[in-house]
Amino acid sequence: ATVIETHEIQKIYRMGAEKVHALKSISIKVDRGEYVAFMGPSGSGKSTLMNIIGCLDSPSSGTYILNRKNVSDMSENELAEIRNKEIGFVFQTFNLLPRASCLENVALPLIYAGYNKSDREEKAFLALKSVGLDDRIHHKPNELSGGQRQRVAIARALVNDPSIILADEPTGNLDTKTSHGIMDLFHELHQKGNTIIMVTHEDDIAHHAHRIVRLRDGLVESDSINPNPTVSN
Ligand code: ADP
Ligand code: ADP
Repeated sequence: ATVIETHEIQKIYRMGAEKVHALKSISIKVDRGEYVAFMGPSGSGKSTLMNIIGCLDSPSSGTYILNRKNVSDMSENELAEIRNKEIGFVFQTFNLLPRASCLENVALPLIYAGYNKSDREEKAFLALKSVGLDDRIHHKPNELSGGQRQRVAIARALVNDPSIILADEPTGNLDTKTSHGIMDLFHELHQKGNTIIMVTHEDDIAHHAHRIVRLRDGLVESDSINPNPTVSN
């Protein structure tokens, strides 16, 4: 079944009198359970497209259908609910709260989702366990390595059990060994049936995905199945 479908999406940024045509016409379909990498040079529109897919921004024209619903018809409340429950965001810069423990950081999205404290702590613990950090729950982000921080961010993205994972350069700040650990985690999520879209400029990271979409100048330059996805270890 199709989960994500964009039809001739355009995005124009206006800066004073100047216009930037970040997306010119993007039509793309992603089925439930697909594992897709978006590649392309800097400025090709990858982040803009991810923001639209994640309902963080809206297109200037064209339509975006998410789970068979037209996103432009949704209220701000519906969009907030989708961002919180349907989609897990993994950002390169971690965005963790420095004064809060790992457990508190991961539990944060559950406050908005309305869970009580003991349920929040249990779910956050299980999410941290799933990324191998159950022995670090009371640590603060600055007491962890880069790879561990990224895993905390992934645990937070997963804590509401979203069906779609959107990751913008998930390994961008990490060394090779740690990056492979993150890719192992994505492999497991894909095996469990999650839909994964990640932006990366690294070929060896992209090759973990089962489909590679290349953007250039706001257009899809190529869209192909990866016949032989990398599986680490
Ligand atoms: P990528 O992620 O592939 O590097 P982006 O989606 O960030 O590409 O950017 C696509 C184009 O849109 C670039 O020319 C960029 O400068 C421009 N752009 C991105 N965000 C904004 C913004 N908020 N305001 C104005 N221009 C922007
Ligand atoms: P990784 O291989 O994941 O990058 P590092 O080599 O950076 O890990 O760190 C190895 C160990 O040292 C980790 O278990 C981590 O918890 C610990 N560590 C790293 N940085 C700090 C820090 N600033 N304070 C406390 N412990 C740290």
